[in-house]
Amino acid sequence: MKYILFILFTISLSFSIKAQKKPNIVLLFADDAGYTDFGFQGSKEMITPHLDKLAKESVRFKQAYVTDPTCGPSRAGLMTGKYQQRFGFEENNVPGFMSSVSAQDNAEMGIPIKEKTIGNYMKELNYATAFFGKWHVGGADRFHPTKRGFDEFYGFRGGARNYFAYKKPPKDKLNWLEQGFGNYQEHKGYLTDVLADETIHFIEKNKSKPFFAFVSFNAVHTPMDAKQEDLDKFPNLTGKRKEVAAMTLALDRACGKILNKLKELGLEENTIIVFTNDNGGPTDKNGSINEPLSGTKSNHLEGGIRVPFIMKWPKKLKSNSTYKYPISTFDLLPTFYRAGGGDLTKVKGIDGVNLVPYVNGEEKNRPHNVLFWRKDGRGAIRKGDWKLIRFPDRPAQLFYLPNDEKELSDLSTQKPKLFREMYKELFNWELTLERPRWMLKKSYEKYDIDRMDKYWKKKKEKPDFKFKKNIKN
Ligand code: CA
Repeated sequence: MKYILFILFTISLSFSIKAQKKPNIVLLFADDAGYTDFGFQGSKEMITPHLDKLAKESVRFKQAYVTDPTCGPSRAGLMTGKYQQRFGFEENNVPGFMSSVSAQDNAEMGIPIKEKTIGNYMKELNYATAFFGKWHVGGADRFHPTKRGFDEFYGFRGGARNYFAYKKPPKDKLNWLEQGFGNYQEHKGYLTDVLADETIHFIEKNKSKPFFAFVSFNAVHTPMDAKQEDLDKFPNLTGKRKEVAAMTLALDRACGKILNKLKELGLEENTIIVFTNDNGGPTDKNGSINEPLSGTKSNHLEGGIRVPFIMKWPKKLKSNSTYKYPISTFDLLPTFYRAGGGDLTKVKGIDGVNLVPYVNGEEKNRPHNVLFWRKDGRGAIRKGDWKLIRFPDRPAQLFYLPNDEKELSDLSTQKPKLFREMYKELFNWELTLERPRWMLKKSYEKYDIDRMDKYWKKKKEKPDFKFKKNIKN
């Protein structure tokens, strides 16, 4: 009998050890931060000691992209592991495919219910899941985080809100502070601090089982709203620059609190931590800086779509290292899912890949030889180290990034063959997407073909390829 009990004990022990092996996952997500605006990214003005320390313990990705240079679509890509244009989520805060109603933040613009989110995937692996902060991928009840794979929610459904509690809440409930589902109750204190406290509470509660915390700070998105004590730390800065520095300091402090809690609970070794940001800094609006990259939030230059990105996983990834090839935030879903023991061969229709074998050097190739972006009529394609950007109002341009990170030298006339190939590849990809309704009204195919005709006329050349017409919607 004793012997049997011993065997049962050993089996249950081995099960519990096995169960504990699933890593916890904490995604620290910033909003509208400048590419350069962290110590670990080279800033001399910002004070970010906790994130700098995390960067030293992490792999720093030198060419990490988001799927869109604005908040909503970028988040929709990350959340589903695929190009969000595949399900029509192409716009940020404007009526279109998702809704015909004009509004600043439209409640009907959400990730379609048929799409699985990163929360759904992690729940399948028996993770405790929670979402903190800014949601912005659907304000209507049916899109609520608690209906999209997250056990818990503490934050707001919309795209921007005050950092201090509203004395008089705005008309639209989307940006009210919500605790759980439908329980609107403003927080006390400064929101960036509060989101850290709520995350810590969730971590403590779930310390003995695998958890996934998506910590979606609205820092450093507008409104510029900082604590006086944080502003006082930057006596040499003025205006928005001072405010964004103070808001970034608060963001760093909040991340530090969460990181320290993981350490205190002995969870550090078995937790994957990612810090990244949803799109490039809107330099005019929040005083952020994207240098040395050109461009800002909302455009397809590197400054709009390349973001700081660090990943720590003590058991699997080398600390204080870098990864040079392009990756995308849509890689997070398969990376986390696989880390949690998920079988990626059963995940269909995503564009992301598990990054771990690439970072570890088991995979020598690039995770993505080609990446695409598209919004309205604008688009971009990165192929290898070449990047083509299609503008709404002037001919497309071609850049070679290793020599021209700032995208100043257009090589389209020097490399006509490559230019043509990449243009065609971008266009062919677009033909596989769901199209916004407003474009259908204008006859989307004709719209782009007309523009292409004009373009080639200007170039005094003829394209050597034909577009497909009459694509079925
Ligand atoms: Ca944003």
